[in-house]
Amino acid sequence: MEIEEQAALTSGADFWHTEAVADVPAIMVTDGPHGVRKQLEGEGHGLLDSEPATCFPPAVALGSTWDPQLAKRVGAALAEECLAMDVAVLLGPGINLKRTPLGGRNFEYLSEDPILSGVLATEWVAGLQGGGVGASLKHFAINSQETDRMRVSADVDERTLRELYLRAFQRVVQVARPWTVMCSYNRINGTYASQHHWLLTEVLRDEWGYEGLVVSDWGAVVDRVEAVRAGLDLTMPGPDAAGDKALAAAVRDGALPAAALSTAAGRVESLVHKALDAARPGATYDADAHHALAREVASRAVVLLKNEGDLLPLAAGTPSIAVLGEQARTPRYQGGGSSLINPTRLDSALDAITALAGGRVDFAPGYDDVEAAVALARAASVAIVFAGSEGETEGSDRTSLDLPAAHLALIERVAAANPRTVVVLSNGAVVRTAPWDAAVPALVEGWLLGQAGGAALADVLFGVVNPSGRLAETIPLRLADHPSHLDFPGEQGHVRYGEGVHVGYRGFDAREQDVAYPFGFGLSYTTFAYSGLAVSTLDGGLEVRVTVANTGARDGREVVQVYTSLGASRVRRAPRELKAFASVPLAAGASTEVVLRVEAGDLAYWDVELGRWVVEAGEYTVAVGSSSRDLRATATVTVAGDDERRELTAESTLAEWFADPRGAAALTETFAAVAAAGGGAMAASAADPEMFALMANMPLDRIAAFAGDAFGPEAMAALLKAAN
Ligand code: BGC
Repeated sequence: MEIEEQAALTSGADFWHTEAVADVPAIMVTDGPHGVRKQLEGEGHGLLDSEPATCFPPAVALGSTWDPQLAKRVGAALAEECLAMDVAVLLGPGINLKRTPLGGRNFEYLSEDPILSGVLATEWVAGLQGGGVGASLKHFAINSQETDRMRVSADVDERTLRELYLRAFQRVVQVARPWTVMCSYNRINGTYASQHHWLLTEVLRDEWGYEGLVVSDWGAVVDRVEAVRAGLDLTMPGPDAAGDKALAAAVRDGALPAAALSTAAGRVESLVHKALDAARPGATYDADAHHALAREVASRAVVLLKNEGDLLPLAAGTPSIAVLGEQARTPRYQGGGSSLINPTRLDSALDAITALAGGRVDFAPGYDDVEAAVALARAASVAIVFAGSEGETEGSDRTSLDLPAAHLALIERVAAANPRTVVVLSNGAVVRTAPWDAAVPALVEGWLLGQAGGAALADVLFGVVNPSGRLAETIPLRLADHPSHLDFPGEQGHVRYGEGVHVGYRGFDAREQDVAYPFGFGLSYTTFAYSGLAVSTLDGGLEVRVTVANTGARDGREVVQVYTSLGASRVRRAPRELKAFASVPLAAGASTEVVLRVEAGDLAYWDVELGRWVVEAGEYTVAVGSSSRDLRATATVTVAGDDERRELTAESTLAEWFADPRGAAALTETFAAVAAAGGGAMAASAADPEMFALMANMPLDRIAAFAGDAFGPEAMAALLKAAN
């Protein structure tokens, strides 16, 4: 292929297609992620108008299911819709960590934990690609805010980057091999993601072995030549004739190696061929079945936060129910921006409640007519208030965690009028529930649940589905408590990830802070008991066995969570880190042994001195439970760990020398020789605890200076040889 043709191949033809060049045809890509947004073309259509498609629950809901198998089924269903619409790549999943509850796109992201997000996204991608449609793992990387998203530099230390923000990407890339990875808009430590050679080439390809294509986020490329040099293959959207020309010129005048461009073009070509091989012209999908799946997933995503006196589930035949709040009739079920789906149908909670209730159901829109709502509440046997956010969207972060004032007023007035009040929330990211939840006996977190969310909520309210959703993000008591609070959204072009590895629950736990509802939390209409925890090592990782019993009267599902801690660690760690989980269905009275694996790699921390992952040797505490703060059983296990010996140098401190057995022996001998040569009583000083404390942090070469010629370069060289 000519250089100019190669260049043309590396930018889009338009918003949604690659360029057809020579004998390489074009393919179509579209958003993503929780449905297919195939944009309608022609006059009269807005930017976001699209063909009808199933609006599955957005990632905020999928994340709350903690069920990888559900994620896989959603991926597979999305593939069917893509094939039916001739879409080769669906632009998702979005797996940026929810660093702050204010993130405008949190509804598009799965969780605040890299293992939870990574495991779910891996299965989602497997489902999608197993169905013959490519994924686009996005946004790579560190795109956890919308404020100034196209310019801001996310300033993150490498350990935090590796252990938190890149970890989920690494898992999905290595296990599910997404056809494409989408780079983010922002800068990372000063360099645009689209031009980040370390990120796009050294980490993604050289370390992780990625062989697919890197596509830009739409408009993320500032300099085509620098982007291709860094490892970016496809710039979207197109056309970009000027950029194509600049690329070709850079190759012709030697500024860019020809191989960089031909490699990028080759990757576009491979993607096109992969897509064409998988295409199924004339394919159709079953919209009813997909709606049913959307309903199933939505019902599994609902998190029951509070249920005093077992107010829920409501009995069919409850004499009268007051349903209050416009969101019961006009569902808030997805967020704004590029992920906006034109649903094939839309269930309202009001209709679904009416269908299941059996008794009388009255409705008032509530937010503007509080008095009418209160009157209905007073007369009803149960009041259900629908409240929620009003507008999470891509492009802007939120400014507050509070519900709209009118919704808060409705909750307060109704709860005062009827002691049997249930609040149902619809929101894309956490809202503040304190202090008003104290006055409400039952609280249901309904997130944004997609097109079947209304029916799913009714299923949970009436116990057709026993809730098993769990918080994939902490609900804080106040915004100011959040670990990210002082370093969000940044200033003067930079956002400092000052909380480091202490993202989300890790930070709340490390500071022993109370929260409204902890990570991993969610109630059920039944109860579960844990017994027989046994932890053993396996292939450098862990095998965790625990028996879980459904001790209540209803069938249900428990999300078993495994957290590890290492008290005496070389690095600062969160008190608890999620390592494994399983969503386990259990009939009333049944019990089962659940076996969970923690891979060695998931135990590792990123050692910045050694520049690699290290599984630290030591005694780990393994806690198993129902949430990060409801741990039902703990055990300890000794892990052999990796060889992590660090070479001792003249710059190593006295403490470091003595912490190392070989170093300690060699240094003791050297100190004796130094004393014999008249260099002072170093050995005696080091043996005296008070003196040792004084000298512990002194590098050895500085100590040697006190001994003059008695501890000269030759003695140091001999010591280093003996110690290493
Ligand atoms: C978003 C991406 C999306 C792309 C294409 C961008 O603004 O950040 O998530 O896939 O647009 O619509």
